[in-house]
Amino acid sequence: MSEPIEWISEKWKNVEVRYRVKEILQELKTDFQHILLIDTYQYGKMLLLDGRVQTAEKDEYIYHEMMTHVPLLSHPNPEKVLIIGGGDGGVLREVLKHDSVESATIVEIDPLVVNFCKEHLPLISNGAFDNERTKLIIDDGADYIRKTDNKYDIVIVDSPDPVGPAKILFSGQFYREIYNVLRPGGIMVRQTGSTQMQEEEQEQAYRLLKDIFQYNAFYLYSVPTYVGGLFSTIFCSDAIDLKTIDIKKIITKYDLNQLNTKYYSPQIHYGAYQLPPFMKVIK
Ligand code: SAM
Repeated sequence: MSEPIEWISEKWKNVEVRYRVKEILQELKTDFQHILLIDTYQYGKMLLLDGRVQTAEKDEYIYHEMMTHVPLLSHPNPEKVLIIGGGDGGVLREVLKHDSVESATIVEIDPLVVNFCKEHLPLISNGAFDNERTKLIIDDGADYIRKTDNKYDIVIVDSPDPVGPAKILFSGQFYREIYNVLRPGGIMVRQTGSTQMQEEEQEQAYRLLKDIFQYNAFYLYSVPTYVGGLFSTIFCSDAIDLKTIDIKKIITKYDLNQLNTKYYSPQIHYGAYQLPPFMKVIK
């Protein structure tokens, strides 16, 4: 009888992080990636794709709130939202908290991630996939963006790191096509990884996006289960500069929507883009 697995590692080139495991709950190989669901002592249930932590019950709200409410509260009237990736449903759950949102389209390449998370991590999507404003499309986000005639106020790219099927979601072509599906005044945000372990992702994103959008600004927050300290997201728009938004308007909209968040607040929103000097040098 083999010893039960007590630790699961997330391995990076020069860093390895281990989580003490109560139970391996599910494991499967899909056409796109390896999916592992474990129950951990510290962070509750945790989803890993190809060995990388995607979301964990205990701290998922930080990332999902920051990826959603910073762009949506920065936009005057977000009605049509597109999420690329995000198969766990956390961003979708947060988007639907906004009364102005008429439709939330989520384009996820792997149907098994959606089904798996609805079954094993139901509190993350919390019924969002069954909301009448939700439109779930199973497709490669890059293909969808190229084919669609639809236009959006907000595009949120909630992809894994640039590995496997997600690689295409980090290309200049993809960003140019996102630009073309944004309505006037639209905003795109995308996760750009850890500022301590994935600096090249921030540098590449900024280098590509500054030639496409007029305004490009990083904002930072910390997600305990995303290795490498401060985690970054880039906010891009031709009309809205994240750094010049009137925080009083954000407070009014936050209160109007009664967003009931656990990490995001208008003050956190403002603080997130007060970048430390080391982030200001990205060219
Ligand atoms: N919050 C996580 C992060 O920051 O790494 C991402 C979570 S979410 C589970 C990532 C999703 O992107 C996965 O469900 C994966 O299947 C999906 N995905 C990867 N490549 C994709 C593509 N080309 N088009 C659409 N979805 C994709």
